[in-house]
Amino acid sequence: MTKKIFLYSVFACCVIGAIFFFVYASIATKKSSAVSETSVTPPAPPFQVKPFVILIVPGHDTNTGGASYKNLYERDLVVDVANDISVIMSKDPDYKIIIARDKQVWTPVLANYFLNDKQAILDFKNQHQIADKIRIASGQEKVIPDAAIHSTADTKTAIELYGINKWADENDVDLVIHLHFNSSQRKNPNLPGSYHGFDMFIPDAQRANYAASRVIAEDIYTQLQKKFEPETLGSTFNSLYEDQSLIALGASNTLTKPAVLIEYAYIYEKMLQASTSRAQALEQMAKQTVVGIMNYAGSTKPIEVN
Ligand SMILES: [Zn+2]
Repeated sequence: MTKKIFLYSVFACCVIGAIFFFVYASIATKKSSAVSETSVTPPAPPFQVKPFVILIVPGHDTNTGGASYKNLYERDLVVDVANDISVIMSKDPDYKIIIARDKQVWTPVLANYFLNDKQAILDFKNQHQIADKIRIASGQEKVIPDAAIHSTADTKTAIELYGINKWADENDVDLVIHLHFNSSQRKNPNLPGSYHGFDMFIPDAQRANYAASRVIAEDIYTQLQKKFEPETLGSTFNSLYEDQSLIALGASNTLTKPAVLIEYAYIYEKMLQASTSRAQALEQMAKQTVVGIMNYAGSTKPIEVN
């Protein structure tokens, strides 16, 4: 008996649903034909439903860490590039930019998250690391040696970086992009080193966020290469590295969203030393990054770049 009533209800709902659908479809058709009589409808961008949300993370912390050379600090330069990217992209309603921090503080939503969700972030990190070890031990995942030497994250930095991954997955972020400037070991830190050029890092091919990260990274790389030299020359993305252990890219499978880490240049490079050429270089890095992202996201409104 109960089953019968249930089936009748399902049937009634289907009928009512179908009526609504046909009425709505007919109104929608009338609406679109009314619009098309008076104007030309532009092609719809792929992310019409919501803006493409980009979380830009200027590398390191507000007042510690990162490369430095003379009076230049990586942790400040990356904020300048993040701001330049935001200024350009914020003009387009198809994009929403969140910058993780400025030169003084983390953006309030992340600062509160690090503080209030500290234990949850540490649990998240530990659970993922344990699961990753099990995958490696059972042969489901291969250990890939790092392409570069990474500094070890202390607990505070680990909370921030794993916290960013957790927050990005919970908050509808479409792309996480980490900005850095490089440095190299040398005898006299007051003299420039011998390395130069940009490098980029993406998650390794075993990660869930690998495929999209690679496509975006190649789009950005192609643009950057128009104005800057990659560290390792070549046309086949020689300076784009897959990396398994960078937390920023989702180490231990802690990030499902695409992620790219850019080392724009070595901090002692000549273009960054004088303030005028530095401002131009940072602006150009931002512009080319924007075009790369837009090429991926498929904006119908390409921007002017010089
Ligand atoms: Zn860095």
